Amino acid sequence: MSDAPPNASRPPLKVLLAGPRGFCAGVDRAIRIVEEALARFGAPVYVRHEIVHNRFVVEGLEAKGAVFVEDLAEVPEGAHVVFSAHGVPKSVPQDAKRRNLIALDATCPLVTKVHREAERHHARGRHVLLIGHAGHVEVIGTMGQLPAGAVTLIEDVAQARAVQPADPHNLAFATQTTLSVDDTAEIVAVLQQRFPAIDGPKREDICYATTNRQAAVKAIAARSDLVVVIGAPNSSNSLRLREVAERAGAPRAVLIRRAAELAGVELAGVATLGLSAGASAPEVLVEETIAWLGACFAVTVEDVVVTEEDITFRLPASLSA
Ligand code: SF4
Repeated sequence: MSDAPPNASRPPLKVLLAGPRGFCAGVDRAIRIVEEALARFGAPVYVRHEIVHNRFVVEGLEAKGAVFVEDLAEVPEGAHVVFSAHGVPKSVPQDAKRRNLIALDATCPLVTKVHREAERHHARGRHVLLIGHAGHVEVIGTMGQLPAGAVTLIEDVAQARAVQPADPHNLAFATQTTLSVDDTAEIVAVLQQRFPAIDGPKREDICYATTNRQAAVKAIAARSDLVVVIGAPNSSNSLRLREVAERAGAPRAVLIRRAAELAGVELAGVATLGLSAGASAPEVLVEETIAWLGACFAVTVEDVVVTEEDITFRLPASLSA
């Protein structure tokens, strides 16, 4: 910011602010669960995996006494442990119980819904094709709801065309909640065409927040010289927002964690900048980015809101009494 030009010479910059953007109801609930656990039980409260994929959020909770671990073995016997918003395989709560840990489940209710769907399909004898990204923590959690071999992961259209299920007449599909709406529709169409009897949700399991944020980015993309998405490189929904922006007509789209990263982004020639944030990025990072831009440009902000959201999720019963 020190190399910002003096105010009088700041060139104009229009910022198209996508709405909805940023925190979703599942992320908000997960953070509240950790905060409420800290308030009730005192520090430390252990959290398995980043509660949501955002370092700023994680560091804020660490400062309040949360301790983030990847493995339950790192949690001392009898301690409180929170499971992240992405969900966990069935083995994790079982392991926690065995080790006398006091578990608090911050899995987003919309992820839990996919878990229950997968279980229902399995109980009816259907093999589940899960559309999602290999290695993503939500996919690991969803696959871990069923015994090994009961789920086949489908990552793209090519895999949807190639998959050879043992019983093509007894299939169901489910999806990760944070995928590209358009890519997923293509994959589902291939599966439905190859396996007309396949069961599954009406369209997919992509959550309202992912759908709305992608629609809002589409609304600003073609009007922008550059789209900036605030989010973490391991945040699936943030990565998809950047891709959606480019596909929807933005000449360039970048993902940044914090405003300071804009110092490494070519802004010369950008008259209109689209701005959004992934579902795990707090609004304070959007404000920080607009302030950073304001030091270099004469910024005017236009809100482009495609829909309003009023969804909230209740805390688990053990924390709301
Ligand atoms: S992005 Fe969707 S599924 Fe993930 S926590 Fe938010 S509301 Fe839940």
